[in-house]
Amino acid sequence: MDIRTFIRKDLRDMVNYQVQPVRGIKMDANESPFPMSRELRGEIAKWIQEEETLRFYPDTDCVELRRTIAETSGLSADQVLCGVGSDQIIDFLMKTFLEEGDTILVPEPSFSMYALSAKINHGKAVAFDLNAEDFSYPIDTILQLCRERKPKILFLCTPNNPTGSPLERCELERILEGVSCIVALDEAYGEFSGQNDLDLIETYPNLVSLRTFSKAFGLAGLRVGYALGSREMIQALDTVKAPYNLSTIAQITAAKVLRRPEYKEHIAWILRERDRMYEQLRQLEGKQGFYCYPSSANYFFMRSNVENLGALLLERGLLVRAYTGSLKSYIRASITTQEGNDLFLASLWEIL
Ligand code: PMP
Repeated sequence: MDIRTFIRKDLRDMVNYQVQPVRGIKMDANESPFPMSRELRGEIAKWIQEEETLRFYPDTDCVELRRTIAETSGLSADQVLCGVGSDQIIDFLMKTFLEEGDTILVPEPSFSMYALSAKINHGKAVAFDLNAEDFSYPIDTILQLCRERKPKILFLCTPNNPTGSPLERCELERILEGVSCIVALDEAYGEFSGQNDLDLIETYPNLVSLRTFSKAFGLAGLRVGYALGSREMIQALDTVKAPYNLSTIAQITAAKVLRRPEYKEHIAWILRERDRMYEQLRQLEGKQGFYCYPSSANYFFMRSNVENLGALLLERGLLVRAYTGSLKSYIRASITTQEGNDLFLASLWEIL
């Protein structure tokens, strides 16, 4: 029996399951270079020893975590919904708002999960190109496409993954004034840009912000993301959430991380390191067509004429994200430990 023939026809070409462990200093997934603090590890270990709540299902409404997130973002708990990573929030958006064949609008290049999640949920992604010279958002094009294609959801990512470019507040306001669809603002890297547009949620009930503990808070392994939005928006998304989606350990750890002081120091360190690296990366400009884009996030997007730059860096022990297809002359590298960053810079000097 050929199982493939049972798979949904539109997903068959995606079957590609393989296990390929790759070793190297991780600069490929924009994770945090900081391990969890000793104090926090102690708190969690103590909690596990003293509590016996792990035999019960987790709090399905994530009450304590939502309250903590609400406190730190100046919203109320009913404006917060938690998911297994912001990937799950993206899935909730599709499940809540898309009818079969509906369109979403996505930036290109950007996070591939929007189009993938739309496809899995029987929707269709239409892409608009970011401006070629600096990857800024083409606001007029977006407004026109929204009028013509009538998408259910418009995805905006700021700072954008992989380009590191921001969507300015005035641009976001122009978009919100001009469209009548759901506007999903992916702020997975928002903590690194210093921009805060959350007050716009009051005026625009169709705006939803996607956040994560995977980047600035260093909890990628626990898979915690959340949505911030109007009460109506959060209630709508909650209708497709299965019970008990977020484990107890994930809920209590994320809440504890938010209450601890160190994440702010970690962000400040990454921003200093970003300045230091950018200054050096700019000195490489022009060598073999190398160019590094300015970044508002915790990674750099770089272009060069060296075809196998990703592989050459891997030979030197560095795992970066190398692209294929129309982005094949680009790589993205996360800001990691000082040692990793120095090796990255030295390797580029050597290769270019
Ligand atoms: N949005 C963007 C722009 C991302 O880069 C990522 C992670 N690569 C996510 C969302 C998903 O993050 P998570 O599911 O870990 O919260």
